Amino acid sequence: MNRVYNFSAGPSMLPLPVLEKAQSELLSYRSSGMSVMELSHRSALFMDIITGAEKHLRQLMVIPDNYKVLFLQGGASQQFAMIPMNLLVKNGKADYVNTGSWSKKAISEAKKFGDVRVIASSEEDNFTYIPKIDRSMIDPEADYVHITTNNTIEGTAYTEFPDTGDVPLIADMSSNILSEEIDVSKFGLIYAGAQKNIAPAGLTLVIIREDLIGHAPDSCPTMMDYKTHSESGSLYNTPPTYAIYIAKLVFEWLNELGGLKEMERINRKKAQILYDAIHDSSMFASPVKADSRSLMNIPFVTVNGDSDLEAAFIKEAQGLGLETLKGHRSVGGMRASIYNAMPLAGVEKLVGFMKEFEENYK
Ligand code: PMP
Repeated sequence: MNRVYNFSAGPSMLPLPVLEKAQSELLSYRSSGMSVMELSHRSALFMDIITGAEKHLRQLMVIPDNYKVLFLQGGASQQFAMIPMNLLVKNGKADYVNTGSWSKKAISEAKKFGDVRVIASSEEDNFTYIPKIDRSMIDPEADYVHITTNNTIEGTAYTEFPDTGDVPLIADMSSNILSEEIDVSKFGLIYAGAQKNIAPAGLTLVIIREDLIGHAPDSCPTMMDYKTHSESGSLYNTPPTYAIYIAKLVFEWLNELGGLKEMERINRKKAQILYDAIHDSSMFASPVKADSRSLMNIPFVTVNGDSDLEAAFIKEAQGLGLETLKGHRSVGGMRASIYNAMPLAGVEKLVGFMKEFEENYK
């Protein structure tokens, strides 16, 4: 069996020990004679899985007791609508920060439900940095402020979260959840599609402060109301059972590794190795401003924007088991997504290849 280093932005690599554990339990989970995929979501065995997943996640992220953890479907994209449907209801105004393609989608969806103001944007500069936000920019009457903590396509990330005072801070953490320690109590709601740092696609995680639940109007569809999922322990209908099971294994793997402090240390090291290689090279460059660089998604381009050279790089890398390095079409060049499950050895191999390629083509 030949596993590659997969630099895909998502779905992306899962930790090998997690896949091996899932494989060993595939045909008969805990002597049930069934796989997890075949278990009733109301069975005792599945109840242990979903409560275990929540317990491990609470431990990892130090989630305070006044927050609910919801295991939903619909992707982060569905949250773009669910958030305003549930929260853009008091004053009907919300403040959004526009830091990239995903922020833009969140903004245009929210505009269907109320008065949405973009308080800062880096669009005029191709989203190559994270704008500074201070309290004076925030409307104290806004129902919430929305940010995208890590911009998967553009390769930027917040190094400091805005202080929004009493206005709830809502964060799309799809591409950097569980990559570093964060203070959950600073946020009103955190959401993430699972397919990067959590589990296979199909699961969407929502961590929501309890006082933000129960405000959706009667016209809100049942499945779009956070209250429905909160009151039923994410079991109002059939949840994505297998993805929740893998999420539990991933959370256990992270806890065994030493938690988010250790994961952050490893992630900083991996990113530093790659940023240093880009910096030291005369062939490659980072399109992102130094103070806004993501630890998870690292785009790089050739200094003269030579698309033939970039295509050769991507093809040769693939031949060596370094997969999915093509950049997003809106940025071009290359992008290495180095989520939690990407081993240090994968980044070292990529950096070694970059040096070799530069030697060969200079
Ligand atoms: N937000 C961010 C930051 C993302 O990276 C993505 C997916 N790449 C999304 C939202 C959309 O997620 P989904 O496909 O789960 O709807």
